[in-house]
Amino acid sequence: MVDKSAAEQVASGVDRQRLIETATALIEVPSPTRDAGAVADRLAEILKADGFDVERPAGGWEKAPAVAVRYDSGKPGRTLQVTGHLDTVHLPFVSPREDGEYLFGSGSADMKGGIAINVEVLRVLRETGLLDCGSILLTAYDLHERPWGDGSQLEGVIEAGYAGDGVLIPEYLCDSLPVAGRGQAAFAITISREGEKVHEVLRPADTPDVIGAGARVIGRFAELMSELGKKTHPHSGTDTIFVGQFESGEIFNQAPTECRLSGTRRWVTPGDGEAAYAELRQLLAEVATATGTKIEADITLSGEAFRLDESDPLVDAFHGGYGAVTGSARLEAGNKLFVDDGNAFYSMRKTPVITHGPAATGAHTLDERVPIDELVRVTQVYALTAIDYCSPT
Ligand SMILES: [Zn+2]
Repeated sequence: MVDKSAAEQVASGVDRQRLIETATALIEVPSPTRDAGAVADRLAEILKADGFDVERPAGGWEKAPAVAVRYDSGKPGRTLQVTGHLDTVHLPFVSPREDGEYLFGSGSADMKGGIAINVEVLRVLRETGLLDCGSILLTAYDLHERPWGDGSQLEGVIEAGYAGDGVLIPEYLCDSLPVAGRGQAAFAITISREGEKVHEVLRPADTPDVIGAGARVIGRFAELMSELGKKTHPHSGTDTIFVGQFESGEIFNQAPTECRLSGTRRWVTPGDGEAAYAELRQLLAEVATATGTKIEADITLSGEAFRLDESDPLVDAFHGGYGAVTGSARLEAGNKLFVDDGNAFYSMRKTPVITHGPAATGAHTLDERVPIDELVRVTQVYALTAIDYCSPT
């Protein structure tokens, strides 16, 4: 239960103008993935100017060390981690601007607005003195956005011990409580045959047909889908295999030497990734043998499947904070549609993670925007969640 006076103190402690200024100071430093060093330095400066002790764990990425702050109440209790990525997708840079209602610019939605929330949470808890147990850990890093990044800096930071008992991620998801998310791997398959490209009438009768082999792979995927569709979760859907690209051939009467397919494999059950890869490789080996072709597959993990245990104390603390701020009942359990940093925390440490952020729009486009009221709202929810969650009872 959230204490009414705590809710009031947090509400008056959140500084709307300071949130706007912090987000703007981060947005104005361009930070495409693999190039987030300057914005990490900017964030570190902001936190230092606020009087926080800033650490810069490299997490395996010396070019742009991560940013970490531990704010400790000095009394025993849980550690709540507020975390997020500083890098943005590779699109032309859009400068920050605000119109009183929205904040615009590169990363405003995804997710420098969220990072500003995490900073404001630290400030509000310190200024109000409301965190009487446990501690808050803030982390921010590069290498999040695929395909330019691979999530390895966050993994390095977690391995180095920058990991809380529970985690909040202010990505742009706010309509439900994401309790499950599918694991995802991207695959690129190359089917090839020996010999040269040749006019179809000149090819030996036993020349392997790479396009036919590709079609056979697609057919086998359709059969596999009828099995995968039985692996379901009430919130995250079903296992799938999907082909989004199929390419081969140069002209209509030439026998090609290569056919390429790419797509995704998604799974609902945490830990099923390895088995899914093995199943895919087995299927491809069978098609290669049957068609006399060579088939190679490049499989890249985007993230393991995710679950949130709804009985975890973090969920109760979050619902208490959410209810106190919005006046609404609990958020309904739902799907975490995309792979985010929560998947890494869950697969590495089984940490409870809640992705909940501002109702921002335009992520991965040139028209990103975040409602300023939402920055304020999420800061309040996070601060109240922290006060409850970090208590040792
Ligand atoms: Zn993001």
